[in-house]
Amino acid sequence: MSIVVQKYGGSSVSDAEAIKRVARRIVETHRAGNSVCVVVSAMGDQTDELLDLAKQVTPTPPARELDMLLTSGERISMALVAMAIAQLGEEARSFTGSQAGVITDEAHGAARIIDVTPGRIQSALDAGHIAIVAGFQGVSQTTKDITTLGRGGSDTTAVALAAALGAEVCEIYTDVDGVFTADPRVLPNARKLDVISMEEMLDLAANGSKILHLRCVEYARRYGIRIHVRSSWSRKPGTMVTQNPYEGEGAVEAPIITGIAHDHSEAKITIVGVPDQVGVAAKIFGAIAESGINIDMIVQNVSAAETAKTDISFTLPQADGSKGLSVLRSIKAEVDYEDVRLDDKIGKIALVGAGMKSHPGVSAKFFRALAEAGINIEMISTSEIRVSAVTRADQLEDAVRAVHTAFGLDSSEDAIVYGGTGR
Ligand code: ASP
Ligand code: MG
Repeated sequence: MSIVVQKYGGSSVSDAEAIKRVARRIVETHRAGNSVCVVVSAMGDQTDELLDLAKQVTPTPPARELDMLLTSGERISMALVAMAIAQLGEEARSFTGSQAGVITDEAHGAARIIDVTPGRIQSALDAGHIAIVAGFQGVSQTTKDITTLGRGGSDTTAVALAAALGAEVCEIYTDVDGVFTADPRVLPNARKLDVISMEEMLDLAANGSKILHLRCVEYARRYGIRIHVRSSWSRKPGTMVTQNPYEGEGAVEAPIITGIAHDHSEAKITIVGVPDQVGVAAKIFGAIAESGINIDMIVQNVSAAETAKTDISFTLPQADGSKGLSVLRSIKAEVDYEDVRLDDKIGKIALVGAGMKSHPGVSAKFFRALAEAGINIEMISTSEIRVSAVTRADQLEDAVRAVHTAFGLDSSEDAIVYGGTGR
């Protein structure tokens, strides 16, 4: 029997009706002769509601207790899905992440999976039961405390279980028909992709696309798992995320541009009047790294000859903005810069495509599209398969539209968004 791992996101299990609908789909897969392991997210926006609730009790909830609270959302949906399956006459068993053998490090709120020991899941499948696993959670190997994998982490649970159970494909069921050339909630005329490479998907996820959790794509690439993204509302074929869809049997030609990601969640810090000397950047970014802040783009200007001083700007998650400022203030005397500024009204757009490697002129066309739309570029960064730019936050969606059209990605049909908020 082949093993099928399916993951259903929050909007796919948002109420009793949705849960019954999902249960029918699971039972259908089981009756077709597969061993089925299902990973579920919390119902609808429940994780956000639980976070709000915690914030009403205290502005600084202890990380251990916050994880305890948040994991309850997935436990509710796993039990309800198992009940709905029982109602359809099949046997289902639900398991918490810990019971499913998801072992993590102890980083509450952002734990990494370090091992998966799916003994209980395997036994349930061997007994002909359908296994339902609570997503986005595990147990710390050292402290034995319950941990969460970070927002959107149920995708990663699913891929990790697929790898541990020896499944080749992990099916991710969501509220749109697959991976699109841009977020269909912002751009209704975005086009659905039939295939996309892991490399491209990683870049889109790292640059703000919410369709898949970044770690899930990293994990899938490392273990050679294919990810099939599709809607739980429709029977459409969805999008296959594979190592290299552009080579070998059934290959399609690598598109120059595959898609556009955008991100409203970053901020920019500018350090003004930094002495242009050896070791200064190492000092600044050493201190930032030590505080655990993940930075993205960095721009350093050429110093003005008269002053021998330069400006350095970098982007970081908005949530880390004030922490970043206080880290920099603590090294002001040591670095001897003039001033530091935080700007959280920025947006980031990233254009991704594997075919870009061998096609000149992509950046020029990207900048021209932004210029024609009257959008100023504040920072630029590139990789072999990506060009990104920082714009004003309130111009970001116009930027996405302009670039999407310029690269001929517009579809004549409107994308369907079946539910949820896209979080
Ligand atoms: N329920 C969690 C969240 O909202 C995990 C997930 O949905 O993947 O982030
Ligand atoms: Mg998600």
